[in-house]
This record gives sequence, structure tokens and C-alpha cells, in this order.
Amino acid sequence: MRPVTDVERSLIESANLGSRQQITDEDLQFDRCHIWHPYTSIVSPTPVAAVVAAQGVYLRLRDGSELVDGMSSWWAAIHGYNHPVLNAAVEDQLRSMSHVMFGGLTHKPGIALCQRLVAMTPPPLQTVFLADSGSVAVEVAIKMALQYWQAQGQPQRQRLMSLRGGYHGDTMGAMALCDPEQGMHSLFRAVLPSHVFAPVPDCRFDSDWEESCIQPFEALVRQHGDELAAVVLEPIVQGAGGMRFYSPHYLRRVASLCREWGILLIADEIATGFGRTGKMFACEHAGVVPDIMTLGKALTGGYMTLAATLCTQAVSRGLSEQYPLMHGPTFMGNPLACSVACASIDLLVAGGWQGQVKRLEEGLRRGLMPCAGLAAVADVRVLGAIGVVELKQAVDMHQIQPRLVAEGVWVRPFGKLIYLMPAYIMSDEDLSRLCAGVRRVVQELSGA
Ligand SMILES: *Cc1c(COP(=O)(O)O)cnc(C)c1O
Repeated sequence: MRPVTDVERSLIESANLGSRQQITDEDLQFDRCHIWHPYTSIVSPTPVAAVVAAQGVYLRLRDGSELVDGMSSWWAAIHGYNHPVLNAAVEDQLRSMSHVMFGGLTHKPGIALCQRLVAMTPPPLQTVFLADSGSVAVEVAIKMALQYWQAQGQPQRQRLMSLRGGYHGDTMGAMALCDPEQGMHSLFRAVLPSHVFAPVPDCRFDSDWEESCIQPFEALVRQHGDELAAVVLEPIVQGAGGMRFYSPHYLRRVASLCREWGILLIADEIATGFGRTGKMFACEHAGVVPDIMTLGKALTGGYMTLAATLCTQAVSRGLSEQYPLMHGPTFMGNPLACSVACASIDLLVAGGWQGQVKRLEEGLRRGLMPCAGLAAVADVRVLGAIGVVELKQAVDMHQIQPRLVAEGVWVRPFGKLIYLMPAYIMSDEDLSRLCAGVRRVVQELSGA
């Protein structure tokens, strides 16, 4: 590298915002008036906590307090924050190149990541599209399915089928697959395609299988089978649409109906992938191999935005017969993101994640099940490293968020759901602190 000039040196010093500068009250005032946070109103913003550092499973706030993080930054930071191996991967890659376009160029981090993804997913999934966020990975999956049927001379197959209670992202195509009532359909109805929705699967993960559970889905397939390009679903765990865990039998039946009717199966593993449910991918609970799979969230261990859409050779070759795959984001295959993703996957595989997730599952059961009898609570459920306390009423975020922070835990409820998805490295002590904080707040809501 060439020597640094004086002007550059002063810019370098002022660019180091994290360690050198304090978040002032004026900064927070600016934040309230000028910055969108997820799903917020500029007129009545929900409170935000100012975080100055993240280490392991702790978030340090501006006032010096430390919170035990129960969210892993929305399923992503599975190894905890500021991890030496992930840091080294980014720093190393930074020294050779932070980004180059993927159009017409390729690079080792991109190749190495796709090699890992092809090796760790079911054998039929052989081709990888590196997208820049989960929603985009879902858009790419939709395009793959639609292009595939056009190339196969079945252009009437242009509708999709999904499950109520699902969540697949916020961009237009992905949004059209989210639950049509809780989702944002009503606001954007005029421009959203109308897809086919089966009811929420009402068979719990470990309950006895009842044939009636699949019948509404089956009836819809019989009605619409010839116009369906693909069924899109979150395997086993419906995440942001309701945190429900459904029976592997249901998924198996969906897969066999898809096969029978020649419909592609798209498994959105963006939330469930990389061990969260106790299997590396949630499809494995049912022994099902989808035609297309989307990955995101934990892909980079929570370090950077990156997602992937994998498909079988039948789909990739089939769709390429007519047109190239019509997608190509500017930051596709970002080398920094790809190298940290490689490191995160290596860490996962080396770290005995099955044991960690099993331990967290037991700890979440111990810590959350006592909520089950409380007046405010409708249901408590745990699967893998996911714990959910479902309340009878929706929470008031203005009230509950500061209470949870006061308990020393970072948990972000939505609607009626208080849910935990800790980093796999969380110790038993921190997990019981986290659960105790949630229990105290739920007890308060119950008037206990
Ligand atoms: C979060 C999520 C998405 C969207 O991913 P973004 O990176 O937020 O765009 C899609 N599908 C599922 C199942 C998700 O959990």
C-alpha cells in the first residue's frame, strides 16, 4: 500500500466512529426526526436504545449498561459478536480486496463460499446465486421458478402458493407471499400479484399426525395445480409471521403433492438455516429436498448482509434453455461478505453446534416453561435454539421494551410474541438470566 497523506490520516481518525465518539443527546434527537428504523413511524417513533459495542452475547449501551442479547440480531449472530475468527476473516479479505463486480469477474471468497454451500446442502442443490439480502434471495427464487416454466413451454404456470402465517421478506415479490392478513397486502393490493394461500398448518411439531391437517392444502393443489409454478414455504418454523412450529409430516406431504403435480418446491430457510432448529436445515426434519432453497440471516454469522438462492441442476439447466437468469445485483458476491460467511460456516461445523443447540433447547424449556401457567400467557413453545412465549394480547412496545432493557436483557417482542433466539455460544448462566428477565416481565403483565 502507498503511504498515507496527512489529510487522509485525519480522515482515518475521524472515521473511527465506534471507539472514539460518544452518542450525544443531539444524535438521538436527530435519529428520532430523520432516521427510519424497521417498521416505524416518523410521527410516533418507538424508543431506540443506543448501542456502543457488542461482544459475545452482550450489547453495551451508551449509559454503560450491558444487556444479554436474546435476539442474535434477528437470527443472524449465531457465534456472538466480535468473534476473533470472523474478525480475522474480514480483516484478511480487506487487505486483498473489499469488493469487485461479479459481472464477468470471479474471486476465491465467492467460489469458496459456493463450494461450502453446495457441499453442506442436500446433493441435488448444485447451483448458487449470491444475493445481497434475504428478500432479494426470495425474489431470485421466484424468478427462477417463473423462468423455468416459461422455458419448459408451460407459461400458464405463473402463480405461486404459500401458507398463511408465513413471512418471506419486504420487497414486492416476497411481500406477496407473506400472510395476506397480517402482512402488508392491504396497503399494496393494487400492485401485488394474487397468489394461492393455504391455511396455517394447525399440526404442532410434536403432536400426533392427523390427516385433516393437510386436506385444505391438498384441496387447493387440486384446484390450482396446473397454474402453479411453485409452492413457497418456511420449512417447519414459520418465523416473523407468527413463530409457529409445525409437523414434519405436513412438510413431507407438501413435498409429495408438489412432486405429484409437477410443482416446484421452494424452501425459504433464511431464518431456519445453519442449525437454529436443531438440524442444519429445517427440511431435514422431514427428509425433504426442495428444488430451490433460500439462505440468509446467519449466513455471515451476522457480520454483513448476504444471502443465497440454491437450486437443483434440473431447475438451473431447465431455466437456462431459453434466457439467462435475469438478475444481477451491484454488490453480488461481495468478497468481504463471502469470506466472513466461509469463516462462519467453518466455525459452525468445527464448533459442535448440535450440542450447543440441544443445550440451549433444554435451557429455554427450563427457563420459559414456568411462564405457561401465567394469566397473560396463551402458549409457550421451544424448538432447537428458539423459545417463544405467546401472550393473549399484543404487547405495547412503548411500555415493554424499556422494561426488558431494565431487566438487563435485549429482547424485541412483536404483536403477541416474546421470543428468544440466542447465539449458540450463550452460557447456561446467561441463558437463565435472559429467561428470568423475560419471566419477570411476563409475570408483571399477568398481574402476578
Ligand atoms: C428475514 C426473512 C426474510 C427476508 O430477509 P431480509 O434479509 O430481511 O430481506 C425472508 N424469509 C424469511 C423466512 C425470513 O426470516
